Amino acid sequence: MRMARVATRLAGLPVRRLEVDLDRDRPQLPGSTPGRRQGSARLDEMTQPTVIPILLYHSLRAEATDRYRRFSIDPGQFAEQMEHIAAGGFQTLTVSQLAAVLADPTASLPERPLVITFDDGFEEWHSVALPTLTRLGLRATAYIVTGSLGGRSRWLAPLGEGDRPMLSESQVRDLDEGGVEIGAHGHRHIPLDEMSFSDAVRDIDTSRARLEEIVRHPVLTFAYPFGSHTGRIKRYVETSGFGSACAVKQALSHSNDDRFALARATVGSDVSMQRLDSWIRGEELPLSWRGERLQTKVERIARRMQRAVSSRGRDDGDG
Ligand SMILES: [Zn+2]
Repeated sequence: MRMARVATRLAGLPVRRLEVDLDRDRPQLPGSTPGRRQGSARLDEMTQPTVIPILLYHSLRAEATDRYRRFSIDPGQFAEQMEHIAAGGFQTLTVSQLAAVLADPTASLPERPLVITFDDGFEEWHSVALPTLTRLGLRATAYIVTGSLGGRSRWLAPLGEGDRPMLSESQVRDLDEGGVEIGAHGHRHIPLDEMSFSDAVRDIDTSRARLEEIVRHPVLTFAYPFGSHTGRIKRYVETSGFGSACAVKQALSHSNDDRFALARATVGSDVSMQRLDSWIRGEELPLSWRGERLQTKVERIARRMQRAVSSRGRDDGDG
């Protein structure tokens, strides 16, 4: 049974702890709660948070090795999914727009909230995603690995995908000017929980500073490479000027989710339109949980041990 303390996130109520069983209490479907808060928190929101699907895309190419296929999607399939979302009446938010609502007890979510994100910084975001999003009027947030700008996806070499072209600096600027939010995703694309804390801080700070030089305004959101982080890294991101951070979790985010470990669902060529439709209607995937699962802790120990004996890359996490 997964329990979550939610009372501290609900303004306007007496301060007391309330345990909510996230397994038992199914979320509201998107659109079924008109606005999250209306003047003061409502009792039903404590047990039925509004679902906010956050989709995660990587490369938008038809060709992919077997090990990378779940992280890449055919451009036509991507366009169909975006058209389906636009036709479905969803109101897309950038991650910072979502975070602003989650942080403000007086703010309301739109009726059918949905967030589209991209990780790593592939060139196709400029040639495929930007024109598609612009045509359909959809908002999105793009998390960029700064060490790979203008280069190739070298960290994917162990998956046979080390030669994918990455965005140039001017293409990042085009995305920013085209209304796509630019977020930081680390400089070297190494799991932050596999390096020293000081190295992790340097990697986070470098990626943000580099992007701010390019877009010439503050970068307010971060995505942990491979979704991996520790409580200490999360607290650093939270106190260093970011307003939000994304994890992966392969789960549905919601109105009581952790603003600095937002749950996302990876979409690759293995995700059919039918399955995507279920996800964005708040079905099939689990509701996001707070904190770290025992399984995640065990996996981190295994990864650290593996990294200690080998410098090879990984094929799990967010690619
Ligand atoms: Zn990544």
